[in-house]
Amino acid sequence: MLDQIGFLAPDWKDLLEIILVSALFYRILVLLAGTRAIQMLLGLLLLVGFYFLSRVLNLDLLRSLLENLFEFGAIAALVVFQPELRNALAHLGQNQLWRRFFNPREETAVAEEVAQAADELARAKVGAIIAIEREVGLGEYADTGTRLQAKVSAALLNTIFSPYSPLHDGAVIVRGDSIVAAGAILPLTQFPVSDKSMGTRHRAALGLSEETDALVVVVSEETSQISLAVRGRLDRGFDTERLVAAIAGGQPALDMLSA
Ligand code: ATP
Ligand code: MG
Repeated sequence: MLDQIGFLAPDWKDLLEIILVSALFYRILVLLAGTRAIQMLLGLLLLVGFYFLSRVLNLDLLRSLLENLFEFGAIAALVVFQPELRNALAHLGQNQLWRRFFNPREETAVAEEVAQAADELARAKVGAIIAIEREVGLGEYADTGTRLQAKVSAALLNTIFSPYSPLHDGAVIVRGDSIVAAGAILPLTQFPVSDKSMGTRHRAALGLSEETDALVVVVSEETSQISLAVRGRLDRGFDTERLVAAIAGGQPALDMLSA
């Protein structure tokens, strides 16, 4: 009897497996969040719901229809989601911890360049918005602007946002140590904003930080203030030092705790 229910007594291997599978699912969901795949995933869940309903209620026509759909759907999904799948696989290999482990100086260097640019732009009263990608991919927003592939530098950020540059309107998107897009359109926050000095630029920063885990640096052309939007919160009045600390490491650790 005890032998038969032996599988109920978990040993360390089961524990390991549970941890690995949860971690895998977590990463897949994080990668999908904010892409069109997540909406289709929800649609798919609805279809699966219908399928079980048709089985329970013996609706044979609906059932066989859905069965056929699932059969070909699996192949169709590979084709439809090919860009996401490729991204996901590439992403798995360049996970944040990994990156920090192998290249701990990269983040500080990027943070310093971004903070220096923000400081110079603020002094010159030039508006700017810079989104720094973390776990959730920002590719879909990068596609709304002009794709670039350039190493992050304060000089380049200054050039992009200078008012006569064709790319100054919209956001710059930073991934790792590269600027991957400029002139990108970010989603505006859906929440009412009481502060009248917060125009569309600040709403766009808040909006992206609500939808993704990105860090969004904003330089106001009206007030010359530097702000940082993270997870739906906008903190204002940053100086260079505090901004470097927030971008390079303090912030991720902080919101791991509050997440
Ligand atoms: P500031 O304090 O700098 O004036 P603000 O919050 O008052 O900022 P606006 O004055 O409306 O905002 O800033 C407009 C600029 O913000 C636009 O020229 C554009 O570059 C940028 N911007 C506006 N909407 C978006 C958006 N959805 N995504 C990215 N950038 C945007
Ligand atoms: Mg304004």
